[in-house]
Amino acid sequence: MEQPTRSLSSEKILDVWEAGRQQHELDRSLTLLSAAYPGVSRDELADLTIGERDARLLRLREAVLGAGAAGISECPHCGGRVEFPLDTRTLEHAGEPSSTASEIEVNGTCVRFRLPTSRDMAEVLAAPEQSRGIRRLIERCVIEPHVVDKLFDEIVEALSQAILKADPRAEIIILLGCPNCGRHWELLFDIAHFFWNEIAAQAQRLVCEIDVLARAYGWTEREILSLPAQRRRTDLEMLAALAISSQGWSIALAARCRASNRWLPRALRQHRSSRARLK
Ligand SMILES: [Zn+2]
Repeated sequence: MEQPTRSLSSEKILDVWEAGRQQHELDRSLTLLSAAYPGVSRDELADLTIGERDARLLRLREAVLGAGAAGISECPHCGGRVEFPLDTRTLEHAGEPSSTASEIEVNGTCVRFRLPTSRDMAEVLAAPEQSRGIRRLIERCVIEPHVVDKLFDEIVEALSQAILKADPRAEIIILLGCPNCGRHWELLFDIAHFFWNEIAAQAQRLVCEIDVLARAYGWTEREILSLPAQRRRTDLEMLAALAISSQGWSIALAARCRASNRWLPRALRQHRSSRARLK
């Protein structure tokens, strides 16, 4: 099932955003991974452990946007805004499993378990109360004993620790310090939430670019998305310069030259119609 993580084209980013906008965050993560792993079924992705899912999201984020990122948080003590740099490679490798155990001993009873997946988390979230959600998770992830009632609280405690040892990327904690009041706190970093917001911002930027370039040059969405990102930026910068220029002739000419494959037929039609009017 493991394949190299491929990046997402501009077209794919828009597809993923369109598909994921109305989805729950658990489904959005699978939508993102489905786009990056086309040979892997959604069911298989739903059966990845949460840590493995998040490791893949970190790798995908690196492939799409690079390893460097900027995070923003709010100091829980003074409310000040705290900006901090992130490196997704460091986050991915900081949480290597320290245990592969699938058995723990709780009050003399051997408890066999498996690690929670997205499918399990969906069950937890569907529960009307948190306590019932935890019970469902325990019942799904504990393989033996079949009845856990007598040891329920002890199993919850021991299993939480065992899961984090075996699947540490399921919970990425970042230690932050506030430059205003000097206090420190632990931030639970959710790559699924963080990366989705970045994808949404990218998609919205692409929609704006398509709108501006289509209006200016008459290109189709497909033509615009097939341009390299740098070329799109250059065209947009040129249009912006054209809009603010007080003596725009030379810039207008340059902009038209760039779009010559479209501009020339239009110019010829315009020229022919002018001549027709002169007669
Ligand atoms: Zn503070």
